[in-house]
Amino acid sequence: MYWEQDIETMPIAALQALQTQRLQQVVRRAATSQYYRTFFERHGVEIESLYSLDDVKHFPFTTKQDLRDGYPYEFLTVERDDIVRLHSSSGTTGQATAIFHTRNDIHDWANLMARCMYMAGARKSDVFQNMTGYGMFTGGLGFHYGAELLGALTLPTGSGNSKRQIHFMQDFHTSLLHIIPSYALHLLSVFNEVGIDPVNDLHLRIAFLGAEPHTNYTRQRIEEAFGVKAFNSYGLSEMYGPGVAFECPEQHGMHIWEDRFLVEIVHPQTLQPVPDGEEGELVLTTLTREAMPLIRYRTRDLTTILTEPCPCGRTHKRIARIKGRTDDMFIVKGVNVFPMQVEKVLMSIPEVGTNYQVELDTVEEMDTMTVKVEVYNEIFLGDVKGLKALQQTITAALKGEVLFTPKVSLVEPGSIPKSPGKAIRVIDHRKTH
Ligand code: AMP
Ligand code: ZN
Repeated sequence: MYWEQDIETMPIAALQALQTQRLQQVVRRAATSQYYRTFFERHGVEIESLYSLDDVKHFPFTTKQDLRDGYPYEFLTVERDDIVRLHSSSGTTGQATAIFHTRNDIHDWANLMARCMYMAGARKSDVFQNMTGYGMFTGGLGFHYGAELLGALTLPTGSGNSKRQIHFMQDFHTSLLHIIPSYALHLLSVFNEVGIDPVNDLHLRIAFLGAEPHTNYTRQRIEEAFGVKAFNSYGLSEMYGPGVAFECPEQHGMHIWEDRFLVEIVHPQTLQPVPDGEEGELVLTTLTREAMPLIRYRTRDLTTILTEPCPCGRTHKRIARIKGRTDDMFIVKGVNVFPMQVEKVLMSIPEVGTNYQVELDTVEEMDTMTVKVEVYNEIFLGDVKGLKALQQTITAALKGEVLFTPKVSLVEPGSIPKSPGKAIRVIDHRKTH
């Protein structure tokens, strides 16, 4: 049931003692890097003053901008000879960031991934098809190493080439998938096209869904259509990649591995800690990373700590499904909107197909939000009255969520561009004006 029982079920007091000891070590270690040495000095923090987990609150936050400022090597705490891997974050704006790993880091990461996959029910006897991009995107290699350590037969199919992917699933009886949720939804139309019913014609058991925000409705759709149990996988390149937090068989919140990360949730504006159970920005400190420790890294991801103990017996805290990144939020007519609010509404309506996109414009000095929604073919080609009624239902449901009336445009399946990578949910034409 557990990959590392003593760690996964460690009593909370022992876990906190381990964290305290590791935190003291990692802060000392970080201070040997060129960047943190001056950073800590500039902020007037003394590493010797850190006795308890609480004391970390006196330390400054590290941001993506710091990583850019220290690019490429200033965060290193080892010789360049000792680093074996570089990953670069997929940031769409500004300069890239570089994250380095030693051999031990790579091993620790693989072990974390094996822990996550085992927790969800993956075993040595499984056949694992890794359908996300390899390369600088950490999802591919992260899962790959974890699956091999677990001992599962691993198919590094990568992303794209959907028909070939389906052949592999048939020929090798794939039982586990790692796939980006928006791509999983898209794949359903390819199954349809090639006449394969994943529930009856394949041997799929489990899907790991990660790398982008998605709602519980999306998970349920994928579970039903693929005939799998689907598990939410959270991570970010700055903290290895996947493996930071993962759902257990309870499928309610993700255990965040506290032997490896110190977890804080802060108010996104005041940056003060919020009480457990309240939403805020996730801030993480790496507790064991060698090449490039990060102290109080602001992830920009919004979540909540779930306070009740998990029936699975694991003692590590759980975080709620990620609501989105603080920078994903957009403001329309003075209202703050997250793409996940739109998705929640759309995926709860059965006639809605597998893809959508939000477009923001300025019309006569006013913001407008148009939600393009793919609908199933039989509905799209059906009678106009039905389409009109569906459009009205979606508009009313969205209005109930965002409190203003958006435009809703129902479009043909497949007409919104879809890449196998992370979905682009919002196109803001307003910025170019
Ligand atoms: P990257 O390091 O470029 O792969 O991007 C990491 C970011 O992807 C995270 O900071 C989150 O914003 C997002 N992300 C990753 N996994 C999930 C997930 N399971 N749910 C929601 N967002 C996710
Ligand atoms: Zn659990």
